[in-house]
Amino acid sequence: MHLQNKAFLMKIEYNLITDNNSLWAQVLKTKYKWDEVLPLSITCRSCSSIWTRISVIWEDLKDCLRWDIHDGRNKDFWYDHWLGREDRLASSCLLTHSPIPFMVRVMIAEGGNWDWFRLEQVLPEKSLEHIASIHPPCDSFGEDRQQWRWEPNCQFSSKSTYNFLSSDMIGGQRGSWKRILKLRVPQRVRVFVWLSFHEWLLTNVERVRRHSAEVDLCDICMHGCEDINHVLWTCIAAEGTWRRLIPHEISEVFFSLPFHDWLTTNIFDATFVRSDDVWSARFVIICRLLWKRRCSLVLAPVMGAMEDVISKGNKLVMECKKSF
Ligand SMILES: [Zn+2]
Repeated sequence: MHLQNKAFLMKIEYNLITDNNSLWAQVLKTKYKWDEVLPLSITCRSCSSIWTRISVIWEDLKDCLRWDIHDGRNKDFWYDHWLGREDRLASSCLLTHSPIPFMVRVMIAEGGNWDWFRLEQVLPEKSLEHIASIHPPCDSFGEDRQQWRWEPNCQFSSKSTYNFLSSDMIGGQRGSWKRILKLRVPQRVRVFVWLSFHEWLLTNVERVRRHSAEVDLCDICMHGCEDINHVLWTCIAAEGTWRRLIPHEISEVFFSLPFHDWLTTNIFDATFVRSDDVWSARFVIICRLLWKRRCSLVLAPVMGAMEDVISKGNKLVMECKKSF
């Protein structure tokens, strides 16, 4: 109930930010001297009880906003959300100190493209992939605009807000962070699993949705739309890899489960592949290697062989056995 209330309060806040025409919004903004698009704080000494509750969750709300970059003049490269659902870039920075704030457009090279030379010095590959999917800022695009981070259509919904608020709370929830955290694999693999559960990886379907690609076809098999389900599971290259790994007697079940059930069963059901006592770790490591192979093909046309994924996976599983 507490989270539902919080989600509804966030709806009021979001409407205050985006709705400049409603009388109720104009009255509240005038009363509480709200004269910026997104004030640093909305706390007020003498205010109604509901406004007090709204101002308490202001930081949470800002975490749910992302910025659609147009001219790149208003938003900070490191400390604002502007890469879809990915966290602020400051959290991925490779520098040994906190990065100095600057506007997104500062990372533009002469000629108007992203300054890849500078970006590669300060950010990991995953973040570079996300940046590559976004058109570089340009003055003719107009001002940067705010959007809702948790919905594909970037519009607020109470449901997605509730899911966000409750996403890392409980152990029993499917795909919850606490369950994933227990996997005996490196943290980068856990993060990958988390992103997969939420279908937040930058597949071709997602790139088309963001207008950074025109074709959502799989670059490996050239058959079917490339969503996360396809990359990890139904693509002929992924299927071939899995068929070499799973026992024949469970192959029918393995290839017939709905995608999220497929993830959940392989990761959390310790009895699913009885012949492999580290199947959960092997499964998530192979999933990540399949994704990395796909990214290698998209970013630079090199594709590792099927055996490469399996042998690399075996090696990583052995390392995990020793380390965890
Ligand atoms: Zn494919």
